[in-house]
Amino acid sequence: MNKYKRILLKLSGEALAKDGNTVDSNTLSQVVDIIKSALKQKVEVGIVVGGGNIFRGAALAQAGMNRVTGDHMGMLATVINALAIGDACKRANIDAIVMSGFPIGGGVCDPVDHNKAKQALSMGKVVIFSAGTGSPCFTTDTGAVLRAIEIEADIVFKATKVDGVYTHDPMKNPKATRYKTLSFNEAIEKNLKIMDTAAFSLCREHGLDICVFSMLEDANTLSDILDGKPSGTIVHL
Ligand code: UDP
Repeated sequence: MNKYKRILLKLSGEALAKDGNTVDSNTLSQVVDIIKSALKQKVEVGIVVGGGNIFRGAALAQAGMNRVTGDHMGMLATVINALAIGDACKRANIDAIVMSGFPIGGGVCDPVDHNKAKQALSMGKVVIFSAGTGSPCFTTDTGAVLRAIEIEADIVFKATKVDGVYTHDPMKNPKATRYKTLSFNEAIEKNLKIMDTAAFSLCREHGLDICVFSMLEDANTLSDILDGKPSGTIVHL
């Protein structure tokens, strides 16, 4: 019996990039294998993907662009990544739907609809949410928490380059140790930057746990956690 019935997996755009490729096909295959394993474990999978491998509004604004336009470009970048994941899923015979936080015509993808998303998830389809919250000045972390609340996910899995939350930056301090669990209040007091503040406060307000883990280092990590083997860091109320 799985601990989690429905999960929201947050993938950063950078998690898809490798060796100078904006969307790396091998990395995409790895992501698909991970999704496949979760589905085999009878876990329903919603995904929110970032766009940082293509554009980030803040960086574009620093270079002189209008911030809102930059954020629109960032959100469109997440749509590109979502379409790539959706296509890779379909090629692997995984039924997947891409939804966008703002309407996009031409049959590119569907607008976000929480009822349709829940129905698709309960039928074993993967729902890939793009365009974050659909509004500028937010991040896809906030989008991930928002969609997790909408689809009534049991937990948000945030895939990062590091295998959890550490006392200090493990890249800089060899004495840094990993938290197995952590409360939202501890994370705020210790100023541990797990997600941006808006995402974090939404999680706290809705009692939605976050599991921070490293996905691509070991392709079995997510499936192990779903099987009940402790890994990563769980941030809870
Ligand atoms: N973005 C936005 N509103 C949202 C989500 C994202 O304006 O609700 C824009 C923002 O410019 C952001 C970019 O899209 O920098 C890409 O998202 P994010 O930086 O969260 O991607 P990640 O770091 O996860 O790849």
